[in-house]
Amino acid sequence: MAGSGDEKSGYRRDTKIAHLGRDPAAFGGMVNTPVFRGSTIIAENLDTYEDTSRRDRKGAMVYGRMGTPTTFTLETAIAELEGGSGCVAVSSGLAAVTCAVLAFAEAGDHILMSDSVYWPARKFCDGLLKRLGVETEYFDPLIGGDIAGLIRPNTKLVYLESPGSITFEVQDVPAISKAAKEKGAWVLMDTTWVASVLCRPFELGVDVSIQAGTKYIVGHSDAMLGLITTNEAAEKPIRDAVRSLGQCAGPDDVYLGTRGLRTLSVRLARHAETALKLAEWLQQRPEVERLLCPALPDDPGHEIWRRDFEGACGLFGLVLNAPCPRPAVVAMIDGMSLFGLGASWGGYESLMIASYPEKIRTATTWDAPGRTFRIHAGLEDPADLIADLEAGFERFNAVRKEH
Ligand SMILES: *Cc1c(COP(=O)(O)O)cnc(C)c1O
Repeated sequence: MAGSGDEKSGYRRDTKIAHLGRDPAAFGGMVNTPVFRGSTIIAENLDTYEDTSRRDRKGAMVYGRMGTPTTFTLETAIAELEGGSGCVAVSSGLAAVTCAVLAFAEAGDHILMSDSVYWPARKFCDGLLKRLGVETEYFDPLIGGDIAGLIRPNTKLVYLESPGSITFEVQDVPAISKAAKEKGAWVLMDTTWVASVLCRPFELGVDVSIQAGTKYIVGHSDAMLGLITTNEAAEKPIRDAVRSLGQCAGPDDVYLGTRGLRTLSVRLARHAETALKLAEWLQQRPEVERLLCPALPDDPGHEIWRRDFEGACGLFGLVLNAPCPRPAVVAMIDGMSLFGLGASWGGYESLMIASYPEKIRTATTWDAPGRTFRIHAGLEDPADLIADLEAGFERFNAVRKEH
């Protein structure tokens, strides 16, 4: 797998995670950039106040909504980690998705979106975006270079998510990006699973990397945060859209993002290790049809994942091998002691939800003999998590027998 050396600072990934974006000397020696709370920034004089160019000067404080040193610390660190030219923080992962799409899409445009994308992104495209006169067409996440056949003269952008939400298909991002570039379309990718470090989106041909910082960057389930990282060409359109839409992230949430970032590597390594242990255990269960986990050698996406990614996180899925009466699923899920039943992921705690990809897809069908589930492996002891899953299957089987 590719190394993670840095061309910019010369330091390796974990060193960068600990040091990027902060400047203790600028804040009286404070290790962490403090939380700047504020709206108004007082200008020295009228000339400065009326100088609109300062809005585009990196690191300049102009108005609270446009960022403070608290924001710039995180944005600088994320942009450098991902290898992008700039990053802007917004209020949530979904705000990052909608701002990024609205930065490019205009009435009369056609956009291509992977059939495996995060469901609220789909809802945005089929609802508000459609109302604005933009047509969204969904495509098979495994289409690869054949995406060329779907690109029309008015196709403004191609939107990817790899691995896909809920179903974890690994997309051939370089092949799709190449085809999109040849036809002049922008490439946007939801990189939440990547957590800024598990692949190099810009080297794979992506123009805009969209991340729910809410997940692994914050890492403790205690803040909402969106991050849009861009290459040079996409930076201005994205900044303009974020400003026009009035988007910004709150200072305390941004601070929690930066604080989470500093421990990202050790957390991710443990999340990934536990996820693999759980997935390997689940693979042996008689109830399980297949795992949806690119880190497993027999996963259909494993080869591309090895080629393009530098590791995995704690999020994966599984499919059961026979029809699952709802009461059996309810008995399993509702009775879990350690796995919480909740949206979101990337915190220190484990989660498990039932999922319904067969109801969402339009370009492809989701063929699964039994229910699909998504698991987030938290930082608990893996043996306790396995025991919780084992007890869950016992409840599941006891109720299933009655049906
Ligand atoms: C959670 C999530 C989002 C949205 O993030 P929020 O901060 O919850 O708005 C976007 N994409 C993916 C893949 C996610 O899992």
